[in-house]
Amino acid sequence: MTLKERDKKHLWHPLTQHKIHPEALPIVKAKGALLFDEDDKTYIDGIASWYTAMYGHCNDFILEKVQEQMQQLDQIVFAGFTHKPAIELSEELIKILPDNQEKIFFSDNGSTANEVGIKMALQYHFNKGEKRNTIIAFKDGFHGDTFGAMSASGLSVYNGPFEDFFINVKRISTPNFENIDNVIKQLQAYIKTNEVAAFIYEPLVQGANAMHMYEARYLDQILSICKENNVITIADEVMTGFGKTGKLFASEYIETKPDIISMSKALTAGFVPMAVTSCTQEIYDAFLDDSVGKAFFHAHTYSANPIACSVALAAVELLQTEEFQNHIDRIIRAHKDFDTRIKEHSKVKTTRQKGVIYALELNIDMDRYGKKRYEIFDHFMQKGIFLRPLGNTIYILAPYVITDEQLNSVYDAIVELLDTI
Ligand SMILES: *Cc1c(COP(=O)(O)O)cnc(C)c1O
Repeated sequence: MTLKERDKKHLWHPLTQHKIHPEALPIVKAKGALLFDEDDKTYIDGIASWYTAMYGHCNDFILEKVQEQMQQLDQIVFAGFTHKPAIELSEELIKILPDNQEKIFFSDNGSTANEVGIKMALQYHFNKGEKRNTIIAFKDGFHGDTFGAMSASGLSVYNGPFEDFFINVKRISTPNFENIDNVIKQLQAYIKTNEVAAFIYEPLVQGANAMHMYEARYLDQILSICKENNVITIADEVMTGFGKTGKLFASEYIETKPDIISMSKALTAGFVPMAVTSCTQEIYDAFLDDSVGKAFFHAHTYSANPIACSVALAAVELLQTEEFQNHIDRIIRAHKDFDTRIKEHSKVKTTRQKGVIYALELNIDMDRYGKKRYEIFDHFMQKGIFLRPLGNTIYILAPYVITDEQLNSVYDAIVELLDTI
């Protein structure tokens, strides 16, 4: 039996209607920006495997560090014990995170990082003797698939079976020039009830919302109102973190700093899953008490796994090298040139870019998971390029190490699609 056939026997894939899409493509190897299938056909990983493998797949520098760590200490309970990789990682993260961040809490993935952020915010108020039970989130935001994160995700169109079990979330529109006054009014109306514990948002770029981008100054207005009313702000930087927007974190573009930041995806460079929720000293201090009950009783078995921490340490080191900063600048410039080239194409509705994130909206109506979307996907795969359109939006978020030649192949395949669709 082939791998494809064996896959069908016992595996259940995420985000997949198996009746319509019974086949998954086996990938046997990955290096740099390339994926290899069983026949040694290569695919350029145009989305860095959901924005994780930003330093290139199987990066040699990271590999070396992981191998060292694997022989030294594999796993240890993080309640009551500590270890050097976690300590060093906390020091390095605090150096690059916005100034007000002081504490690092570990979990396993983007959803749990947000779950932790939401729980921290709720318990922060609880510990201070205030019962605030409402979270505010953007209508089109995405924060993950566990219950708290899913509840906060307005975009979760397929959550029908679970909606009755959601936590309390009130939604505001993602701000723009036209609606900002109404958004502010709505926000103030919610806050007036004194029930709002926190506001969770993806800063500047909403990944799952087809890479929708919005302006820092509007977010700043929203955040400062939250601050004035002691509403805890949670920046979900799971997608935007670690250089993708052209700064280390998207929150750097905004004057008002978040109280809590969640990170994952590129944190561990595509090697292993891990996530971090950082927070301010003030949040942390609200949990300090003679009573055990005020502590944060949230743990995952693999919290701060030493191997995952060593990966993240190596990744954070790479990110700050001149080599990678140059890669980022190079990709930003290349995207800009490409944008000038295709912006006026009749099949292009709009384009947008923030840092190395480039998105292009096609001038055709399409369902998010409709047939056309799969045709476009196949067009790219046949050309040896892995892009994952979100509805009628095609976006590039390639590993920083993608070569100019590989990047040009991606651009050319997009132009060809525009010319033939
Ligand atoms: C991917 C993503 C998540 C969820 O992360 P998982 O690791 O898939 O649980 C949350 N928020 C944002 C902004 C994301 O892009």
